[in-house]
Amino acid sequence: MSAHIIDGKALALSLREDIAHAVSALVEETGVRPGLAAVLVGDDPASAVYVRNKKIACEKAGLYPQEHVLPASTTQEALLALIQQLNANSKIHGILVQLPLPPHIESKAILQAVSSDKDVDGFHPINVGRLVEGDPVFVPCTPKGVIHMIDSTGLDIAGKRAVVIGRSNIVGKPVAMLLLHRHATVTICHSRTKDLPSVVREADIVIAAIGKPLFVTPDMVKEGAVVIDVGINRLPDGKLVGDVDFDGVKERAGWITPVPGGVGPMTIAMLLQNTLESAKRMGK
Ligand code: NAD
Repeated sequence: MSAHIIDGKALALSLREDIAHAVSALVEETGVRPGLAAVLVGDDPASAVYVRNKKIACEKAGLYPQEHVLPASTTQEALLALIQQLNANSKIHGILVQLPLPPHIESKAILQAVSSDKDVDGFHPINVGRLVEGDPVFVPCTPKGVIHMIDSTGLDIAGKRAVVIGRSNIVGKPVAMLLLHRHATVTICHSRTKDLPSVVREADIVIAAIGKPLFVTPDMVKEGAVVIDVGINRLPDGKLVGDVDFDGVKERAGWITPVPGGVGPMTIAMLLQNTLESAKRMGK
């Protein structure tokens, strides 16, 4: 039987409608309009598209977007000065620094300079610590979207075997932590995992966050599993694919996310939600 498709586009649209209503209620009640500043350094075309899409999404939901596009030659000091300015700007409730930054800039120092109260990406060490403790303030957007998608299937995460493939700080580790807090039994696989297919075959929930096209094949997936594909890969012919062999795996999985139209739109919706929550907290 073919899997149910988890439609990230539709889920994100409905979330964005709810956010738009909540934003207009907040503006009416308090006069505060949630503001999101996006900082882009350099001319990476994919990053430019991400930032533009985030800006459009902000405008549609009634948030106040600020875009800061800086040349690739920007110094670390100049970037830090901009971050300090944004930290102090009361109209801004969320700051996102689009990654990757040019190699001469120390990304870690920049992410740590963002006020932990405006860290809508949840990358600041203080927010990472809060997440690990199970008391998060900002949950990173992509992992938050992944959990929302699993919840949309009606599956009770508690007690399930979850396998996360990939251990990055922005996806793999935080998504594993969120699944753990929801009482799943979690295994994190990575490039040095031995016999990865047999580990993945145990999983009721598979999260693929690797960045390798068509890595997860049908023989690795338990029948009926929920498969969430975070990967975004461009094939030589220009086609966009995930980390999962969608056509093959959908014949075994119970639920599966497509690429495009899966996790990607959810990430943007969660960014808006984090900015809204931040504005509400600051307004208190
Ligand atoms: P990353 O490169 O930081 O991490 C990749 C992880 O995959 C590493 O932990 C590595 O150990 C693991 N890995 C690499 N080769 C492996 C192998 N052969 N076997 C097992 N594990 C292996 O990547 P990331 O930032 O976590 O992103 C992962 C993918 O998700 C990328 O395609 C990225 O574009 C995509 N992504 C999508 C969104 C979204 O909104 N949809 C957001 C962030 C990242």
